[in-house]
Amino acid sequence: MRGLAMGQSGSIPERPTAGNRRNGPIDCFVPKVAIERTTKQKRAIRTAFETEGRPLSTNEAFEAAQGLVGGLGIATVYRSIKAMLDDGWLTPIDVPGKGVLYELSGKAHHHHFSCTTCHRVYELDGCVDNVIVPLPRGFKASGHDVTIFGRCATCATPPRPPAAKKSTIAKKATPRARSATKRR
Ligand SMILES: [Zn+2]
Ligand SMILES: [Zn+2]
Repeated sequence: MRGLAMGQSGSIPERPTAGNRRNGPIDCFVPKVAIERTTKQKRAIRTAFETEGRPLSTNEAFEAAQGLVGGLGIATVYRSIKAMLDDGWLTPIDVPGKGVLYELSGKAHHHHFSCTTCHRVYELDGCVDNVIVPLPRGFKASGHDVTIFGRCATCATPPRPPAAKKSTIAKKATPRARSATKRR
């Protein structure tokens, strides 16, 4: 059974998909579905990078894209990232302690912030040009690579205690709070 012959008959109602249109002849049904799936998965990986708006590791891209498209495997993410690097759409960056991450290409000179709590890496606008690091005599700088470490806004905000625990604490704390008020 040749795919081409099937397409010419023009009646392949097996699996309805977005590409299985009434007016469009389907030359080779199964590969087309596979191509469509790959395209959808690639698009989901691209969307993951665009939506996250920060450098992602392969695993992070996998996790983010998994929520956007079904049946995604890590091997597809590896392959897609490689293709996006070849296309020049992604650029690899090396952040200390993180291995290789990938960010969208074509951005102006910038630096990164590495959160030591959630381990996400963020892009920073601007430069550290005004930070003067004395160089030994005769040395001439030609560039720099700066990563700022710390806690991102989410991680730096203290978590609110859960409601149930809060009431227990409140009960225990009440006598002390009252005595403190009396003293005043
Ligand atoms: Zn964080
Ligand atoms: Zn800089």
